[in-house]
Amino acid sequence: MRQNLIYFLLSLPILIMLAWFYFDKRKVKQRELKRTRLRAQPLAPEYVHILQTEFALYARLPSDLQRTLAGHMQVFLDEKDILGRGDLEVTDTIRVLIAAQACLLILNRPGNYYPGFRSILVYPETYVANSTHNDGMLQVTATSTRAGESWQRGPVILAWDHVLQGARDSRDGHNVVMHEFAHKLDEENAAMDGLPLLPTAEQYQQWSEVLNAEFIVQQQKLAEGADDVIDSYGATSPAEFFAVVTETFFEKPHQLGHCHPKLYEQFKLCYLLDPKAWFEG
Ligand SMILES: [Zn+2]
Repeated sequence: MRQNLIYFLLSLPILIMLAWFYFDKRKVKQRELKRTRLRAQPLAPEYVHILQTEFALYARLPSDLQRTLAGHMQVFLDEKDILGRGDLEVTDTIRVLIAAQACLLILNRPGNYYPGFRSILVYPETYVANSTHNDGMLQVTATSTRAGESWQRGPVILAWDHVLQGARDSRDGHNVVMHEFAHKLDEENAAMDGLPLLPTAEQYQQWSEVLNAEFIVQQQKLAEGADDVIDSYGATSPAEFFAVVTETFFEKPHQLGHCHPKLYEQFKLCYLLDPKAWFEG
């Protein structure tokens, strides 16, 4: 009897682990079934109207990608909470344009709908934020105005006026939603360091070689004050480089492909998309 009890106690951790695996697997399966169901649902006609009138890139997408985008948006809107800050009341237009621009990045990527956070906080316009950093023995608090930010393992924060401007202008190379959600893709493998998860293991070495070389060139250009299709903010860190080039890749694909062909190729393989084709004709 006592020996049985000892066997039972010894096997208890294994039983707990097996139960955990079983319930976790069941939870993932249920979530995937729900996502499949949501993706199959058509977007409400008023949502499609918002995409057609306010999201300039939508009209450029081929119809199969428009359908894929709509499906991803259904899942995104189900899994994320979009919350107003200040006196902003969250409308359908706000929800649709944030979801559409965020989901453009994961159109063809095998992914998990930006895991690890749920809340997207939206201010009516550019907001003021405080940040603290150490300067030697001193702790310095700086104040800056922002259009958006992405907290590691935390919420995405956006200024609605910039979200709307980004949606309406698909050719200026600036898009705050794409920028902040590129940071979210970047952090999926723990560090926010400009290295997102790539579709295949073989891609990592070439990604590092090309991105490192191009980042150094951008830093040199910033020091010289030289112009480039990639905004100079990209030269501030590898993480910002990835986010800024993402904006350029989707909004100025021909210019990026012409000036930085190797970089364009790496982003094409990363996002499994070729936006150049959307801007032809
Ligand atoms: Zn950034």
